[in-house]
Amino acid sequence: MRASRFFISTLKEAPSDAEIVSHKLMMRAGMIKRLGSGIYTYMPMGLKVIRKVEAIVREEMNRAGAIELLMPLVQPAELWQETGRWDKMGPELMRVKDRHGREFAIQPTSEEVITDVVRSEIKSYRQLPLNFYHIQTKFRDERRPRFGLMRGREFTMKDAYSFDRDLEGMQKSYQIMFDAYTKIFTRFGLKFRAVAADNGAIGGTGSHEFHVIASTGEDALVYCPTSDYAANMEAAEALATGTRAAPTAELTKTATPKAAKCEDVAKLLGIELSKTLKTIALTVEQEQDGKVTKQYFMLLLRGDHELNEIKAAKVPGLTGAYRFSTEEEILEVYGCKPGYLGPIGTKAPVTVVADRTVANMSDFVTGANEVDFHYTGANWGRDMAEPHITADLRNVVEGDASPDGKGVLAIERGIEVGHVFQLGTAYSEAMKATYLDENGKPAPLQMGCYGIGVTRILGAAIEQNFDDKGIIWPTSIAPFELVLCPMGLDRSELVKEETEKLYAAAQAAGIDVIVDDRGLRPGAMFADWELIGVPHRVVIGERGLKEGQLEYQGRRDTEATNVPLADIVDFIK
Ligand code: ATP
Ligand code: MG
Ligand code: MG
Ligand code: MG
Repeated sequence: MRASRFFISTLKEAPSDAEIVSHKLMMRAGMIKRLGSGIYTYMPMGLKVIRKVEAIVREEMNRAGAIELLMPLVQPAELWQETGRWDKMGPELMRVKDRHGREFAIQPTSEEVITDVVRSEIKSYRQLPLNFYHIQTKFRDERRPRFGLMRGREFTMKDAYSFDRDLEGMQKSYQIMFDAYTKIFTRFGLKFRAVAADNGAIGGTGSHEFHVIASTGEDALVYCPTSDYAANMEAAEALATGTRAAPTAELTKTATPKAAKCEDVAKLLGIELSKTLKTIALTVEQEQDGKVTKQYFMLLLRGDHELNEIKAAKVPGLTGAYRFSTEEEILEVYGCKPGYLGPIGTKAPVTVVADRTVANMSDFVTGANEVDFHYTGANWGRDMAEPHITADLRNVVEGDASPDGKGVLAIERGIEVGHVFQLGTAYSEAMKATYLDENGKPAPLQMGCYGIGVTRILGAAIEQNFDDKGIIWPTSIAPFELVLCPMGLDRSELVKEETEKLYAAAQAAGIDVIVDDRGLRPGAMFADWELIGVPHRVVIGERGLKEGQLEYQGRRDTEATNVPLADIVDFIK
C-alpha cells in the first residue's frame, strides 16, 4: 500500500465524547467515525484491523471444523416468540415493522434462526455433530452505548452454534471451541484469561467468558494464581458460601428513614439470608409531621427468594406505600447492578457498612436516573461505578481461600471479548429441533453457542497496549506490519530507488507494508505512524543508504537502531 493512495486522517485531539483511551486513540487515528450513539463507520484504517481479526477467527473456526454461513439480519418475530425471547430480551432487542405491520427483530444473536435451519435440515444422527458459524453485524439497543467499539449498538460478532446427539458430544464440541478460542486470543498477542461464568438470560448448563486483561475493564475477574480456578465476579459470588457475614447497611446523616439494614428488612420480610445476591428497589413514602416524603432505596439482600413473592410484604415501622421492583427493572430504571446499597434520588451522603466501610457514596448518588462517576478519567456512569465502588461490599475479596482449596484468590479487571455456552436442549426443545437416533426415535439436539466480539477486540487490544504516543498493535492484528518512511523522496533518486526495492522485497516476503509517500516532514510522519500503532518502522535516508544502513525502530523501542540494508527484511520477518 502507498499512503498517498490510502485514506489516512489523524487528529491531534480526540473529540470530547471519547472517554477511555481506546476510544480516544481510535478516533484520533482515524479508524472509526461516529454516526450516532453506538453506531460507527469503520474507516479504512480501522477496517484493516477488523479484517485481520476476522481472518484469524475464521481460520481457527475452520480449523476446528466449524462451517461458515450467513443469516438474515432482519428476523421474523414469530421465531423469537417460539423461544420466548421476543419478550424476555426486553428493550435491548431492536424491533421493526414492515409495511404490512409484521414485526421483526434485528439480530442481536441468532440462536433462533440457526435452530430453525437445523430443525429442517437435520434428520439423522448420521449428520451430527455440526457446528455452524457466522461473522456478522449484530444490533443490540444497549441502554448505555459507550467507549466507541467497546459497547456499540451495531457491532460485528462471530457466533458459532454446535449441534450434537447427546450431552457428551456437546461437551466435546464445547471443548473444541474453548481450545480454538485459546488459540485465537493467543494469536492476537493479547494477555487474556478464560473464566467460569453464569449463563444469564441465554440459558443452559455451563459457560466461560474470555477476557482481555485491562485495568479499565468493566468486569472483575476472580482467580487463583496457584491453581486453575478462575471465574467472573458473579459466578464467584454465587459459589461463595459461609465465608463472610451478610452485609448490613446503615444510612447516616439522613433524617428519614433512620436506618435500613438488609438483615432487618430480610427478617421483616421473612426471607432467609443466603449467599445469593439479590437487590430490591424499595420506595418508601413516609409521613412525618403531616408531610409525606418519598425515599427510594436500593436494598441488597441475600436470599433465594422470588421477588414477586415479597411484593405484598409489609415493612412495619415504615408507614405508607412501598413497592419492590424486579432486578430487571432496577437495571433498566436505575442502571445499576445488584451488589450495592444506597438511596436513589437523594443527595444525602451514605455510608455503607459491610464488614468494612466503603467510601462516601454521595458522589454517585446525585439523581434518580443520571449519575456521574469518574474513574480513570472516564465517566463510567452509575452502572460502571458499581464494580469500582463496592469492591468492599463484595462477597469475594482478594485473599479469600480459593474454592478448590489450592491457594488464595486474586482479583483483576477484564474486558469480555468472547463467551462460550453449553446451551443443552433449551432451544431445541422450545423449537422442536430433533433428530432421529439409532433406533429411529426423535431426540432433541444438544446445543452450544460461542461468541467473539470482533469489533470489541480492537478496543480491548488498545486498552492493553498503548503509550503516550498512541496505539501499539500486536503485529498479528496491526493495520500494517511495517511502514517505510523515505526521507526526501522528491529530492533523492537513491532514496526513491531503494524505497521501491524495499517495498517490493517486503511485499514478496509477505509483510503487510505501507510506504509513506505523502511527502510529510519527518516529525509529522513519525507522529502519525506512532499514533496509528504500526509495529515496525524503517526510515530510508540518503546518508544511511550510502553506508548501506537503514534506521529501524520497533513501536515499543525507545530509540532507533541501524540495520544493514541487506538484512532488513529478515530482521522484520
Ligand atoms: P456484555 O456483558 O459486555 O454486555 P454480553 O455478555 O451481553 O456482553 P454475549 O451475548 O456474550 O455478550 O455476546 C458475545 C460477545 O459479543 C461478547 O463476549 C462481547 O465480546 C461481544 N459484545 C456483546 N455486546 C457487545 C456490544 N454492545 N458491542 C461490542 N461487542 C459486544
Ligand atoms: Mg450485554
Ligand atoms: Mg457479559
Ligand atoms: Mg457474555
